[in-house]
Amino acid sequence: MEKMEKTATVLVADDDELIRTFIRSALEQVGLQVCEASNGQQALEQFVLRCPDIIVLDVMMPVMDGYTACSRLRGSAGGGRVPILMMTGMDDADAIAKAYEHGATDFITKPLNHSILSHRVRYMLRGSRTLDALLRSESRLGLAQRIAKIGNWEWQPRTGQFSASAELCRLMGIRLQDFGGTLDAFLQAVDAEDRERVELALKRILTDRTPCDIDHRIMLPNGSDFIVNLQAEAVFDDQLQSLTIVGTAQDISERKRSEREIHRLAYYDSLTGLPNRVLFKDRVTQAIAHAHRYQYHLALLFLDLDRFKVINDTLGHNIGDLLLKHVADRLAESVRHSDSIGRSSDGGQTHELARLGGDEFTVLLTNLRDVQDASKVARRILEALARPFPVSGHEIFVTVSVGIAIFPADGESVDVLLKNSDTAMYHAKEQGRNNVQYYSNAMNAAANERLRLEGEVRHATEREEFVVYYQPQIDLCSGRIIGAEALVRWQHPQRGLLPPAEFLQAASDTGMIRAIDEWMLRTACRQNRTWQQRGLAVPRVSINVSNSLFHGTTLLKAVEATFVETGLTPDRLELELTESVAMRNVDTSITVLQQLKTMGVQLAIDDFGTGYSSLSYLQRLPVNRVKIDQSFVRDLLSLVQPVPIVRAIIAMAHSLQLEVLAEGVEDERQRSILMAEGCDQAQGYLFGRPMPAADLERLLGWMVLPKAG
Ligand code: C2E
Ligand code: MG
Ligand code: MG
Repeated sequence: MEKMEKTATVLVADDDELIRTFIRSALEQVGLQVCEASNGQQALEQFVLRCPDIIVLDVMMPVMDGYTACSRLRGSAGGGRVPILMMTGMDDADAIAKAYEHGATDFITKPLNHSILSHRVRYMLRGSRTLDALLRSESRLGLAQRIAKIGNWEWQPRTGQFSASAELCRLMGIRLQDFGGTLDAFLQAVDAEDRERVELALKRILTDRTPCDIDHRIMLPNGSDFIVNLQAEAVFDDQLQSLTIVGTAQDISERKRSEREIHRLAYYDSLTGLPNRVLFKDRVTQAIAHAHRYQYHLALLFLDLDRFKVINDTLGHNIGDLLLKHVADRLAESVRHSDSIGRSSDGGQTHELARLGGDEFTVLLTNLRDVQDASKVARRILEALARPFPVSGHEIFVTVSVGIAIFPADGESVDVLLKNSDTAMYHAKEQGRNNVQYYSNAMNAAANERLRLEGEVRHATEREEFVVYYQPQIDLCSGRIIGAEALVRWQHPQRGLLPPAEFLQAASDTGMIRAIDEWMLRTACRQNRTWQQRGLAVPRVSINVSNSLFHGTTLLKAVEATFVETGLTPDRLELELTESVAMRNVDTSITVLQQLKTMGVQLAIDDFGTGYSSLSYLQRLPVNRVKIDQSFVRDLLSLVQPVPIVRAIIAMAHSLQLEVLAEGVEDERQRSILMAEGCDQAQGYLFGRPMPAADLERLLGWMVLPKAG
């Protein structure tokens, strides 16, 4: 403070030269600089010229008196805050009052006392400096808050008062004067979803004195929002015995954005936007933990484009990069597409695609039921890349070599799996590129076997190698045959007669299942028509309908065409759908089934009890019959109490006016339990195994119905 006083300048305005000299000597003695004016007008001029830190102003002066000068000073630029000391006559109360009215800071009476004057001037200077410093620091704080987007606030829980700084109001999108001044007014600006959490955090400061540090959203009046970090703590004033919560709110949306950006840069490949090696390894590690816990397989596919270097060298890196982007897109598409691969009861399979760098990509397949599904996805990838890529006027053809490692068989850690899938990929290159290899030889053998089987299934229809077997269905009360289920068999040239378990999956994967089903439909209907014409008692035949046949209007058209072609009447045909087939798209199912029912076709739910369908859905399906799955029938002979399930299914079906048929009845005891429980019909080895048409005819020989037309 002393140092500052030395450089301070005092403007002394008085028309009396003697007084000016007197004042000058007094002030210069205490180290102040002095400049002079002999009237009000001059004082104004000197103020502009010298920018004094304080003004000592006489009241009575010629040209312009002290009051006028004082008011003018207050109104002039920079004159608002300069301390002005007015010299009045002794005991002149009017003059003192007038001096304050005109904006004087203080007054001093004449005659002047040397030391009182210098003390007064120095005291006023100090006061003004402190005020200046305070104002400066306040405005600096305001500026800092604006730059940092920090608003501060204080909440007095006792009075409920909540005061917000200008910046906080700005953040909330409210004018300072419009802010309500209560905690609720502040909470109104908090996004509705976060409001309760914020309020709780603030109230927790009161109860447990824990400082609060949370992020929440602020909702602006215009509907947009952003994230702030709210920090607050309790300040206890011992003297006033009062508690104040002081806090800040900082706009951190920018930080969040850059955090996201940093995350993107750290975990994603900038060329393709795919996850990079770091993120991929992280995801594999998580998937391993999950797969370990829930005991399922993972497959790691390692992809490397064939001869990518040649493309890069001949067409240049720019085109190479563009190609990689296209490849990434197509991979993403085919991997997404292959989500639907596998059985309809696909248990939440997910696929993760990543780019490891260069022309290397990886795919993680989780939740695999069958490790051979991995090669299905891989083959789909080969197919997807087989189409040419149009890049900058070039038509580029690329192929890819894929290596597959399976968890846990081929490794239990990311690194081992990556290494082994890479090794398998090299085998694929050695095999002539553009192919898929498992790390394990046994799996390669199985994959090849599967490929061969798929090839054979494709040709089996053309070579007419499929045959229909019929299994009788019996009415439990009368013991009569009420129908026959048509079951497909494959008369394989080398392997003999194969049951569906051996080839239906391959048929489904190759899309051949639909052709098989349509052939079964035609053949069984033609057979039944022949039986009718020969007067044999087969009231109806049942056909199993797969997902791919039960799609859109395919089934409806196939059934109509079959009736026209074979001349069979609709009531002689029953269609069996499993729950998963029927439930795949309930609304379409209902429409299609309704139309079939209107035609007079019988409908049954196959393998009932093994799916996940709820009773309410079953109620909506216009079916005639449910077939209790054979697993429940098998359980009827075990020691535990199995009857309740079967009883419940029968009761439920009957309440919906549906008939119930029990599958897989092999034993006399099963039959009697089922009869006692009120089951209507049965099918199983006890009554007859699936057999060729001719055998069924012999069985039917004794049951002749009136000849059909
Ligand atoms: P499903 O429709 O539930 O057929 C009943 C299966 O149980 C048949 O097996 C039948 O041979 C067997 N079975 C019948 N009675 C007994 C018994 O008393 N004990 C035992 N243990 N089994 C019995 P299959 O013929 O091997 O067929 C298996 C599944 O393949 C069928 O189950 C059906 O879902 C499917 N399937 C069969 N033929 C076709 C077809 O032409 N098209 C379609 N899409 N699927 C078919
Ligand atoms: Mg069936
Ligand atoms: Mg069944």
